[in-house]
Amino acid sequence: MGAWIEHLNFPPAFPWIVAEYCEGCSHCVTACVHGALQMCESSHDGVQLPWVLDISLCNGCGRCQQSCVLGGIQLTTYVGEAVKRMQDRSPLKVQLL
Ligand code: SF4
Ligand code: SF4
Repeated sequence: MGAWIEHLNFPPAFPWIVAEYCEGCSHCVTACVHGALQMCESSHDGVQLPWVLDISLCNGCGRCQQSCVLGGIQLTTYVGEAVKRMQDRSPLKVQLL
């Protein structure tokens, strides 16, 4: 893992967006009182996905996961991998089924 990632102060858990289960309702964005989540355009016209654009805003509270009845956003303790995925990929690169 790169040096940049070792110096960041990560939360204990981090969201993982499961694009195939997400219906774009934005309940998770509303539930995130820290403003870490935003709805973003995806690779499919008219489909939006929640995404963490500024990882420093996420404290791993899990409110986003609790707000989603579809399993479209789930917290993982593999924080380094989840942060890297969130930063390396944008919703525009997420392949939807
Ligand atoms: S992850 Fe769940 S709560 Fe968030 S926009 Fe998608 S379906 Fe809605
Ligand atoms: S874990 Fe908490 S702070 Fe992080 S995106 Fe979800 S609701 Fe927001």
